[in-house]
Amino acid sequence: MPPTRPEMPAEPLFWGKRRLPVPWAASWSGERVAVSGDLVARPDGTGLAYRDETADDRDRYGVLWARLAGSPGNGRPAFGTLHSGRQRHAMLRRLCQVCGGPADRTSRGWLFLLPHSGHPAGEPPGRTEGALSTKPPVCRPCADLAARHCPHLTGAIAVRCRGPRVWGVFGGLCVPAPGGRLVSPTDGYLPYGHPATPWFLASQLVIRLTRCTRTSLTAEGLGRTGDG
Ligand SMILES: [Zn+2]
Repeated sequence: MPPTRPEMPAEPLFWGKRRLPVPWAASWSGERVAVSGDLVARPDGTGLAYRDETADDRDRYGVLWARLAGSPGNGRPAFGTLHSGRQRHAMLRRLCQVCGGPADRTSRGWLFLLPHSGHPAGEPPGRTEGALSTKPPVCRPCADLAARHCPHLTGAIAVRCRGPRVWGVFGGLCVPAPGGRLVSPTDGYLPYGHPATPWFLASQLVIRLTRCTRTSLTAEGLGRTGDG
């Protein structure tokens, strides 16, 4: 079944016979990484570059970003994996990761849902104040929707955050290997300004949540219980 809405955010796409809601920021199998040989080590050995690099390939901190086609609805949805371009856009604009509309904001801040697992190395599970996150905020209707349909959000922690601050990026360190290849042994988090920046290929923007208040979907009046 083709998705019901090919492009613009406003509500989630629905996919498959069960019409599962697909978050706007989720990636699709048809949105392939467009790197294939275009990513190279600079001849002077100072870092990574694209052969045909443009100003849009780096962010304001000089970090190189993975190229990913933007065609939501193309192929199968990868639930739980966010598209680098839409994830970054949602983070910077405080957009709901599910529908792409404005995230919910009250005097206690924007609404975030943090997974119980999958925290960055060294981050204690359940931490809210000061936590690093790659998950953009949500709006109220989508918080309810996501908690019911997203397995990775089972037991999610709801947080109101008044100070989401850009911290760095998630991605992979790419190092030259024999034969002129580039290999990326592990993915990880990199703060902006880190000396390894020239060899890092970013795929997600990371924010640090500050001035947080822990809440719950029940406390938010969203009708679910047992989310803590
Ligand atoms: Zn939403």
